Amino acid sequence: MLLNAHRIELEGDYKDRILLAIEDVTDRRSIEKRKDDFLSIASHELKTPLTAIKGYIQLIRRLMPDDNKKLNDVVQKSVSQIERLDKLIVELLDVSKIQSGNLDIHHKNFDFDQMVRDTIEHVQFNSDDHTISLKGSTGVVYNGDETHLSQVVGNLVSNAIKYSPSQKQVHVYLSRLKGHIKFSITDSGVGIEQKDQKKVFDRFYRVGAVKEKFAGMGMGLYICEQIIKQHQGMIWVESELGEGSTFSFTLPIKEQQ
Ligand code: ADP
Repeated sequence: MLLNAHRIELEGDYKDRILLAIEDVTDRRSIEKRKDDFLSIASHELKTPLTAIKGYIQLIRRLMPDDNKKLNDVVQKSVSQIERLDKLIVELLDVSKIQSGNLDIHHKNFDFDQMVRDTIEHVQFNSDDHTISLKGSTGVVYNGDETHLSQVVGNLVSNAIKYSPSQKQVHVYLSRLKGHIKFSITDSGVGIEQKDQKKVFDRFYRVGAVKEKFAGMGMGLYICEQIIKQHQGMIWVESELGEGSTFSFTLPIKEQQ
């Protein structure tokens, strides 16, 4: 049996006494555990057929004649839908790993600026109607989890594009501060009201006003924050409704980096 104790403050004549309310949370915890287990099993099961489909599409791409524009378009559209599905499944898996404390972070040295350039190029490849500019540099060979940090950058860039449908310019800035490197991305999109700015990093939180207009599940920023925290960094947003948003993160660096 799992119990939660709540202390209740008493007033007047009973001020010096303590009242404890004991609540049995066994059922609640076991429902949460079953939900987490389901998330983990479902995402693993979805991953297997999707990996096979990705392989088949790659094969079709290789066998396909270059001059068939219609077929090329259809295959390209399939690839971007598969990438979307793949991203969702990876996010579901990550959320379930974070919940169970099993998100593995593997540190190695990598060129931070190059990772950012490669990630931008990858996102840009699937969204050719936005221009992403990159200014500044950190000049740092960073020791951290390249795959997960690339996932953070990819998420922030994809969001900047997704939430600025009519403003096609997105700006990325890199800089090195004392003991830190900083990544910022600015869009001129829908923006986020003050009251929602902290909540967007919560699991499954989506801003009410944009929920119907843009597809999503509210996992990306939650995962970003968890990955940045695992690197002892900070992530935050500055935004104005209707004007746009700037998402930034900093990561600590060791002096010799
Ligand atoms: P998703 O985009 O799948 O909903 P995220 O966790 O990435 O999930 O984002 C959570 C919420 O934060 C979004 O639903 C959206 O309301 C808001 N948001 C994220 N990025 C931006 C942005 N660049 N501009 C405006 N709103 C944003």
